[in-house]
Amino acid sequence: MSTTLSLVLNCGSSSLKFAIFQVGKEDVPIMSGMAECLGQDKASISFKQPDGNRKKTDLGKNAMHDAALTALIEELRACALLERVAAIGHRVVHGGNRFSGSVMITPDVIQGLEECSPLAPLHNPPQLVGIYAALSVFKNIPQIAVFDTAFHQSMKPAAYTYALPYKYLVENGVRRYGFHGTSHRYIAGEAVRVLNLDPEDSGLVIAHLGNGASVSAVRNGRCEDTSMGMTPLEGLVMGTRSGDVDFGALKYIAETTGASLDDLDKMLNKESGLLGISGLSNDCRELEQARARGHEGATLALDVFVHRLARHIGGHATSLKRLDALVFTGGIGENSVLIRELTLKHLEVFGFRIDAEKNASLVAGKGGVCTLPGGPVALVMATNEEGLIARDAAQLAGLAA
Ligand code: ADP
Repeated sequence: MSTTLSLVLNCGSSSLKFAIFQVGKEDVPIMSGMAECLGQDKASISFKQPDGNRKKTDLGKNAMHDAALTALIEELRACALLERVAAIGHRVVHGGNRFSGSVMITPDVIQGLEECSPLAPLHNPPQLVGIYAALSVFKNIPQIAVFDTAFHQSMKPAAYTYALPYKYLVENGVRRYGFHGTSHRYIAGEAVRVLNLDPEDSGLVIAHLGNGASVSAVRNGRCEDTSMGMTPLEGLVMGTRSGDVDFGALKYIAETTGASLDDLDKMLNKESGLLGISGLSNDCRELEQARARGHEGATLALDVFVHRLARHIGGHATSLKRLDALVFTGGIGENSVLIRELTLKHLEVFGFRIDAEKNASLVAGKGGVCTLPGGPVALVMATNEEGLIARDAAQLAGLAA
């Protein structure tokens, strides 16, 4: 087993998440943590150390990503891990048309990342800040960009083209890109392995259900379709995002309430979805508890969530030659017995037959099949986006596993 390490960095505008993996053993990180409130009064960084202990350190008022990385380096040095870090993987949300796989970060790639920023103005710029900071503090370590969109670049024009005047695609890059690609790619590989399918002759529908949620259709390891679009707003009902909505409804809301484009954008991304329908919470677990108490909003929110999810799963299955398995992953997919049960009931037309007992046992990281024999398989599987970023980083850095 290699003793070298990969460091995974995921930067937001005021946060920096990190995880460190031993190369060749990317299932569980040996250290992880997060810097929060960067650029604000109470910036801090917390570590979950190799021995399981947790500790939190103040970074000082208005500390930014470079200060968080400096604190991370100090901690790595104190734990005798710094010298072993031999690759750094950066999560990047949007790689546009340009990046269809993970890449070593070079000046040319940085230029490409800058060009992709307008496609994800909230996500890519802070990730670039993190990349610049990491390049300046980890000077001689290979750094790799891993994109949320890359796995979906195999979609054909029929799947990615919006039915808008074609000039918007050609001149402005307006098309469906899809997101959560690292999770969909990880699950696609693992599901084929666990179910012993032929990698060159397999059909999967993957439902990544977290706060954000998306479905993908993966045929022979290639993404054929996915539910998110040019931005992560399209598709499924999510924690606070609406998913698919008729533009005519939005025009009507704007005309009758005076809402601006920015108001609508905020409403669709932050005030809709499970939160918007229930009026209670964006958190599936909380809604399940409220539903059990008879809360009408929570009940409707989960019913709409399941209806839309089943509709997308059915639609995505049509991109396959055969449906070998439906895979549930993400916080809701991995843990919600109720959502899986309701969704599989909705999908009886495809021949799914739920194994209620098995389904009830698959929570808290326990994966497995939750259907009875005689129909397509539904599988519960924990995703590992950070582990896959670490694996890509190690591979592109040429580290022997
Ligand atoms: P993110 O997209 O932010 O990474 P997660 O993948 O962690 O989110 O998923 C968060 C969602 O998972 C929340 O809606 C949460 O309620 C849900 N969840 C976690 N555990 C359970 C559970 N035991 N039952 C139902 N939902 C759960």
